[in-house]
Amino acid sequence: MKKKEVTGMTVDSGMTQDPGTTVDSGMKRDPETTETMEKEVDRRAFLRACGLAAPVILAVLKVPEGLIGQEAIEGAEREALLYAMGVDVQKCIGCGRCAVACKTENRVPPEEHFFNTWIERYVIYSDGRVVVDSPNGGIDGFPELPEEGETLRTFFVPKLCNHCQNPPCVQVCPVGATFITEDGAVLVDEEYCIGCRYCVQACPYGARWIHPEKHVAAKCTFCYQRLDEGLVPACVEVCPTGARLFGQLGNRANPLERFRRFNEIQVLKAHLNTEPKVLYANLDGEVR
Ligand code: SF4
Ligand code: SF4
Repeated sequence: MKKKEVTGMTVDSGMTQDPGTTVDSGMKRDPETTETMEKEVDRRAFLRACGLAAPVILAVLKVPEGLIGQEAIEGAEREALLYAMGVDVQKCIGCGRCAVACKTENRVPPEEHFFNTWIERYVIYSDGRVVVDSPNGGIDGFPELPEEGETLRTFFVPKLCNHCQNPPCVQVCPVGATFITEDGAVLVDEEYCIGCRYCVQACPYGARWIHPEKHVAAKCTFCYQRLDEGLVPACVEVCPTGARLFGQLGNRANPLERFRRFNEIQVLKAHLNTEPKVLYANLDGEVR
């Protein structure tokens, strides 16, 4: 299986052209760093023994190598490397095919509440009420609207991890299991994750969940295993209306950059300064 360098780490990059085929997209440490790994495993055992009750101890732990590599590349040069997703809200019809494809591609458990991406329906009523629902993440479609007032507008908003450039989930991870790749994807190293849930609580977008069997944090990876093969994320590939686009920022040849140039772009919860890389067009002011 092909490996992709990720600032001192390697990632399995299994290709999944066939939607019925699934791959292990778990990230693995470079085998050459076995000695370091052993020390890190010791560190995990140590943290478990501490019950994570000593933030002072956690604060002196080593900064993940992935972050050091990221800081070395700045400005426009860095932006040109970064993967991002565009979402045109006006084009989304709420069919949920993206959420289904994501579950298949990334082996997300079938039960409700486990999603890397999901669809929210917003209903804006004339009396000012805003009702948001997302039954089973939108996978099974949406029920008829109840007859309870005049609706001004209804629309669908696909959501996922924003692969923030300034991600609180990375900042709070006590063991460096969550990291940013050079190309801007926020990933979780399952071998390091201790399932402490700090990142789940820190993410302001509700994008993380704990895997019920692996007991590690999980989230959208931009289908990182597909990118190395020149494929776009599964959700982008299956969207029948082209509501989702994917590419690298600053690459004027790709559809994402054209999308960014020709639309008024907004991001979710911009005031939090997380610098999301999921870019929305035609986003209603009521969307949270
Ligand atoms: Fe982390 Fe949440 Fe931002 Fe994704 S959306 S990078 S999980 S803070
Ligand atoms: Fe919207 Fe496209 Fe997802 Fe369907 S596949 S819900 S149109 S983003």
